[in-house]
Amino acid sequence: MNKKFDYLIVGSGLFGAVFAHEAFKRGKKVKVIDKRNHLGGNIYCQNIDGIQVHKYGAHIFHTNDENIWKYVNQFVPFNSYINSPLAFAKGKLYNLPFNMNTFYQLWGLFNPKDVEVKLSEEINKCGIIDPKNLEEQALSLVGKDIYETLIKEYTEKQWGKPATELPSFIIKRLPVRFTFDNNYFNDRFQGIPVGGYNRLIDALLDGIDTETGIDYLKNRIHLNSIAHKIVYCGKIDEYFDYEFGHLAYRSLRFETEILNTQNFQGNAVINYNDKDVPFTRIIEHKHFEFGTQSHTVITREYPQNWDLSKEAYYPINDEHNQSLYKRYRLKADNLQNVIFGGRLAEYRYYDMHQIIASSLKAVKLEFEK
Ligand code: UDP
Repeated sequence: MNKKFDYLIVGSGLFGAVFAHEAFKRGKKVKVIDKRNHLGGNIYCQNIDGIQVHKYGAHIFHTNDENIWKYVNQFVPFNSYINSPLAFAKGKLYNLPFNMNTFYQLWGLFNPKDVEVKLSEEINKCGIIDPKNLEEQALSLVGKDIYETLIKEYTEKQWGKPATELPSFIIKRLPVRFTFDNNYFNDRFQGIPVGGYNRLIDALLDGIDTETGIDYLKNRIHLNSIAHKIVYCGKIDEYFDYEFGHLAYRSLRFETEILNTQNFQGNAVINYNDKDVPFTRIIEHKHFEFGTQSHTVITREYPQNWDLSKEAYYPINDEHNQSLYKRYRLKADNLQNVIFGGRLAEYRYYDMHQIIASSLKAVKLEFEK
């Protein structure tokens, strides 16, 4: 059959946009559709009074991979933003990630040797050799004091589950340092696209046919008929009509406010770690781009249970869901004309650089075989 497109890309987030760009560059006929009324998936920014508001949660680009850094920089310059979140816990403000500033704020120690001794005492007291869950992982990394002040309540609020029932990989993301360095990430490259993330998506999709407000699964028969291959970036279980059951997610709710003040909190990200505060963090978006406006926009981020009526943000990668995912994956791998990729299709807690890497890998498999 003579189909109009070589590839129909379902979902215009980073996986889909990178794949679309690479296919288009190779002379393929490509169309990108998105269920939402805008492109960009969860990195989409809404311009509110001249401030780029990270509509689906704060996104800070970071990578250790020079090729990925060069890749994104061909589309848009990045600014020099370094993520240095603060944490407000039990009446005090702490620096993150756990570094000499945090240790000074907690224990009044400012000599790295003293801190190393104190930290290993704290860790040894817990006596954990082989950590089996997030709580044990955290205790074996930083001990009880830090765990109880900065990790336990935040984590349980964020995930809605006891830390003993959460996988340890979540906390491995947090570095521990014996320098006065508040950079949240260890990666060599970091920043925010100048002018916002939409610039990155627009440049990736430049020249490509795009359409928003289109629900692929509701129009599957027709849409399959217009392209030889589908790149599907939606939820993998939904693609298969939840045949084996639902994959679980954690959702978020955002409350955004425009304030008639120049500087609300002096930092882009402040975490609120105590369990009696219902939100996990306040984002002041202008600080991502060193904004000098006379007003500001802030967003309170509330974790919430997920159901089908809510946005699926964080996959719950526990044993049950992972084995469910594997069953779907097996079915997906047997489909000749569909490529599954991205956070929802791969059911992974992905950072942006990892999604780009995953998409470029799919591109390689598709075009360099
Ligand atoms: N975390 C914590 N205290 C904090 C910040 C993070 O315990 O003040 C833990 C928490 O378990 C969280 C994980 O570290 O789920 C990863 O946090 P991060 O902010 O890096 O993740 P994001 O939600 O931004 O993907």
